[in-house]
Amino acid sequence: MDHFDYLVVGSGLFGATFAYRATKAGKKCLVIDKRPQLGGNVYCENIEGINVHKYGAHIFHTSNKSVWDFVNSIVEFNRYTNSPVANYKGKLYNLPFNMNTFYQMWGVITPQQAQAKIDEQKAEAEAALNGREPANLEEQALTLVGKDIFEKLIKEYTEKQWGRNCKDLPAFIIKRLPVRMVFDNNYFNDKYQGIPIGGYNKLIDGLLEGVERKTSVDFFAEYKDSWRNIADKLVYTGAIDEYFDFKLGKLDWRTVSFKTRIEDMPNYQSNAVVNYTSHDQPYTRIIEHKHFEMFGQTVYDCPKTVVSEEYSTEYKDGMEPYYPVNNDRNNALAEEYRKLAAAEDDVIFGGRLGQYKYFDMAPIIEQVLNMEII
Ligand code: FAD
Ligand code: UDP
Repeated sequence: MDHFDYLVVGSGLFGATFAYRATKAGKKCLVIDKRPQLGGNVYCENIEGINVHKYGAHIFHTSNKSVWDFVNSIVEFNRYTNSPVANYKGKLYNLPFNMNTFYQMWGVITPQQAQAKIDEQKAEAEAALNGREPANLEEQALTLVGKDIFEKLIKEYTEKQWGRNCKDLPAFIIKRLPVRMVFDNNYFNDKYQGIPIGGYNKLIDGLLEGVERKTSVDFFAEYKDSWRNIADKLVYTGAIDEYFDFKLGKLDWRTVSFKTRIEDMPNYQSNAVVNYTSHDQPYTRIIEHKHFEMFGQTVYDCPKTVVSEEYSTEYKDGMEPYYPVNNDRNNALAEEYRKLAAAEDDVIFGGRLGQYKYFDMAPIIEQVLNMEII
C-alpha cells in the first residue's frame, strides 16, 4: 500500500489548501472526505446550468492581498458584490443600513436629515435606559439605530435566526451593526470580494489537482485506528469532540437547512440574497443562486432559476454542524478538547470543526498559507 506524508481528513478549504501547499512542498497527501463530493461547505451542485451553493451561500471577501492573490492564482474571481435586500411585509429595504435604507424608511434625502432622524429615535431608547448600559440585544439595537429599523429590519429576523426573543439574546451579537451615511449597498467593508468564475468547485479542483483523494470515506470507520500505517502525519478538519469520541461531552452547534426548488423563469427575485425580516415567512432568507455568477443578459440566457429558502434549525445529532455556539459551557468544553488536541502527536487540528471556531473562508486560507509545512 502507498505511504503518505499526510492523511488529510476533510476536503473543505482548510484540507484542500493544506494539501495544495504540502504537494507543492514535495509531500505526498491523501485527502479523504465522508461526503460523496469534495469541497466541504463551498461545494456547489450544478442544477439547470446554475451553481447551487448546497451548504449555504458563500461570498468570498478579504482585505488580505496575499489571500486574494492566492485564490485568484487558482481560479479568477468575478466582481460579485453582496448587496442583500430586506423584505418586510412586502416592502423592500436595502442593506446594510445606509442612505438608501433611510430614504426608504423615512423619505430623508440628506445625511443631516437621516442623522437627525436616527438621533431622535436613539434618544427615545436612551431615555428609557435611564443611564444604564443596554442589557440585551433589543436594548442594544434600539440605542444604535432606533425603533423603526429595529422593528422592521432586526427584531423578527433575529428572533427567527436565533430562535429566541431579542430581550433574551446578548447585546454583543449586534454591537457592530454598520450604519453608513452614504448611498452604498455593499454588505462588506473588505477591499476584495467575489465568487470564483465557474464556481467554487473550480477552486477546490485547482487546489486538489494531482492530489490523491477518496470521497464517501469516514475517517472513524476506516482510518482512526490504523492511519499511522499509511501516513506520517494527520491533518484533521472534522469535529474536535468527535475525534476524542465525545469523552468530555458533546459540543453544541447551530445549523441551517434549505428548501431548494427550480423556478420556471429566468429571474425570480432580481438579487442573490433577499432577507425576510418579519415572522410572516418562516424562513430567514431566499437565495437565488444564479445571481452570484450571472450578470446582465446572461441571467436571461439561462431560462430557469434555482432558489433556496433558508431556515434556522435547532441542531440535532446527524445534522450538519455549521456554526459553533460560543456560550460559556461550549467555550470551556472546547478549550478542554483543545488541550487534548495539543497533546496528540503528529496531528494537526484545523478548520472550523477541528478548532470549534467560526471562520470565514479567507481567514481559513490565511491560516494555512501561514503554516510551516514540514
Ligand atoms: P468544511 O468546509 O466544513 O470542511 C470540512 C470537511 O470535513 C467536510 O467536507 C466534511 O465532510 C469533512 N469531514 C468531517 N468529518 C469527517 C470524517 N470523520 N471523515 C471524513 N471527512 C470528514 N465564509 C465566507 O467567507 N463567506 C460566506 O459567505 C460564508 N457563508 C457561510 C454560510 C454558512 C451556512 C456556513 C456554515 C459557513 C459560511 N462561511 C462563509 C464559512 C465557510 O463555510 C468556512 O470558512 C469554510 O467552509 C471552512 O472550511 P473548513 O475546511 O474548515 O470546513
Ligand atoms: N441581522 C438582522 N437583519 C438582517 C440581517 C442581519 O437583524 O436583515 C442581524 C441578525 O441578528 C444576525 C446578525 O445581524 O444574527 C448578523 O447577520 P449576518 O447576515 O451578517 O451574519 P450571518 O447570519 O451570516 O452570521
